[in-house]
This record gives sequence, structure tokens and C-alpha cells, in this order.
Amino acid sequence: MSDKTERLKTMIIGSGPAGYTAAIYAARADLKPVVYTGLEPGGQLTTTTEVDNFPGYPNGIDGPSMMVELQQQAERFGTDVRIGRATAVELSDEVGGIHKVTIDEDRVVEAETIIISTGATAKYLNIPSEQRLRGGGVSACAVCDGFFYKGQDVAIVGAGDTAAEEASYLANICNKVTMLVRKDYMRASKAMQHRVDSLKNLEIRYNSEVDEVLGDQVVEGLRIVNNQTGEKEEIAITGLFIAIGHKPNTDIFKGQLDMDETGYIITDAKSTKTNRPGVFASGDAQDKIYRQAVTAAGTGCMAALDAERYLATIEAAPEEVV
Ligand SMILES: Cc1cc2nc3c(=O)[nH]c(=O)nc-3n(C[C@H](O)[C@H](O)[C@H](O)COP(=O)(O)OP(=O)(O)OC[C@H]3O[C@@H](n4cnc5c(N)ncnc54)[C@H](O)[C@@H]3O)c2cc1C
Repeated sequence: MSDKTERLKTMIIGSGPAGYTAAIYAARADLKPVVYTGLEPGGQLTTTTEVDNFPGYPNGIDGPSMMVELQQQAERFGTDVRIGRATAVELSDEVGGIHKVTIDEDRVVEAETIIISTGATAKYLNIPSEQRLRGGGVSACAVCDGFFYKGQDVAIVGAGDTAAEEASYLANICNKVTMLVRKDYMRASKAMQHRVDSLKNLEIRYNSEVDEVLGDQVVEGLRIVNNQTGEKEEIAITGLFIAIGHKPNTDIFKGQLDMDETGYIITDAKSTKTNRPGVFASGDAQDKIYRQAVTAAGTGCMAALDAERYLATIEAAPEEVV
């Protein structure tokens, strides 16, 4: 094998809906994209059984099958999908500059443009019964999975704005929502607190934590513990939603890309441009608000179009790129 460093036109880091959609557009535009899959080929949707809200699947589809189809669609246009994880980056700050990405701590690959689609990881409580019942009634996405519990009793864990937002969403479709708040107050904004307080079928339990999720194959109930008194109580529920935050998978870009305090990559206005020319960010790695497969796919499309325009402009007149 030659020891010459490989140089790509477009490298896509991540193989979720954002990465594969970027790949479809980039491949069709002849950018010869290479996708590095990371440790979770197919991304977060490979951890869920039913995806009911992605357009084009009238009967729904299971997450892993949907991601295989997206990969096949990207490959149909010539995308090169490689197993590998980006472990370090050296991003140029010059227009037309070459970016360097280390793969698997082993070899460096150069790229004229990079599309970051590394997603985010939902935080869980990490107690054994919760982990065992993930996909069996435990979910970290109320907007994705709440519908399956329509008319039923559910619980949600969390105290921030997202938790309050998801609790109100659930209250609209479920029979009863019990919201567990670890402290004796909520972190959510006053406006969001008023919103949850006004919901008649939502009960907030302060100083309350999950002791155990009950059920063998599916969630049947919850044992709650009051962290002040130690008192335990069981409630009957069929769904448990964990809304304690997400961690964007962006650590390797720290210090080089602008990010918010949580690590979400900041993109420029209505584009996917980052603060480094030729580096674009899409999907959950840059979106803390919507976090859906279809929005990730949408920004993946945008990133490929942004990369294409960037390359076209530097080839024409490098000094005019902004
Ligand atoms: C349980 C669950 C159920 C869900 N259900 C739905 C649903 O029904 N409908 C819906 O619209 N949304 C759903 N979502 C949300 C949806 O999965 C995400 O919004 C979407 O997957 C985000 O896509 P993404 O491409 O940005 O990132 P992800 O899907 O998170 O993919 C990230 C990719 O980046 C890769 N990666 C990370 N770091 C590196 C690295 N250093 N180098 C190389 N690769 C890397 C990973 O291996 C992965 O392939 C659900 C989420 C969860 C957790």
C-alpha cells in the first residue's frame, strides 16, 4: 500500500439520517463522498423498533431496516461507506484549506470539505431495570414514542425545559402523566412551569427518583423513592420517558469549532456552515431543539448542498468565498 495520504473531496463523519442524506446529495453531485460510520453504524434509530413518523413509510418501519435502506440509497450513487471512527481532527481555518482527520487513532485522511453528522447521545439514568426495558416501554424521546402510549398512564423523568415540553406533549395524548423531579423545584423556565402546572392530567412529584422500573418484557410500573423520606411507592404505568438531556458527540471538535455550553456545534444563520471554511455540521450534533430523523435528514441535505457550493466557489474564485 502506498504511504501517500489519501485526499477526499467530501468526508462525512457519521452514518445516521443526517450523514446518509448528506451522502445521497453529495454523491449525486459528484463529490465522491466517503462516510465514516463511527461505532454505531446507522445511528440512534438502530436502537428503536418502530419509526412511524418518517415520511414515505405509510406503515412505519423498524429503525435498523430504515437505516439499511438509507445506506443502500447512498451507495447506489457511489458513496463509499467505511467502518471507522474519527478520533482527532485538524481543521484548516483558510478558505480552500485542507482538513485532516485521524481515523481510529491510526491513519490520517485529508478532505477538502467535511460534513459532521456525529449526532447526540441521550442520557439515561443507567439503572439496570431501565436499561433492560429500553425499547420495551422506556424511551428517551417523547415526540418519537409518545404516540404508542396514547390514552395510557406514563411517567417522565426530568426537570428542565425539554422535560417540561415533553411532559406537556405527553399530557396531550396520554391519560395521565406523572413527572418525577429529583429536587424540590424545577429547572424549567417559569413559563414552562406554568404550562405543566396548568395540565389537569399531569402530576409533579418533587424529591422523587426512580428506584426501579417494573416489568419483565415491557414496562408495567414504576417504584418511586422519595429522596428526603426514603419512602417508596409503586405506580402503574406502561411507558417511562427519560428527559434528562443529551450529549452531542462533538468532543473531537472542541477548541476548533464554535459550540454552545453543552457542545452543540453552532452553525451560521440558515446554513450548515461552521466557523471553519469547508466544514459543515448537520443533524443532532448541531440541533438541540428538534432532534428528529427527518430534521437530521433535512440538514444533511443542506450540508451537502453547502459543501457543493463551497467547492464550486473556491474552484471559480477562492477569494470570494465567505
Ligand atoms: C430510542 C430512540 C427512538 C427514536 N425514535 C425516533 C422516531 O421514531 N422518529 C424520529 O424522527 N426520530 C427518532 N429518534 C431521534 C433520531 O434517532 C435522531 O434525531 C436522529 O437519529 C439524528 O440523526 P443524526 O444523523 O444527526 O445522528 P445519529 O443518528 O445520532 O447518528 C450519529 C452517527 O455518528 C456516528 N459517530 C459519532 N461519533 C463519530 C466519530 N467520532 N466518528 C465517526 N462517526 C461518529 C455514530 O456512529 C452514528 O452513526 C429516536 C431516538 C432514540 C434514541
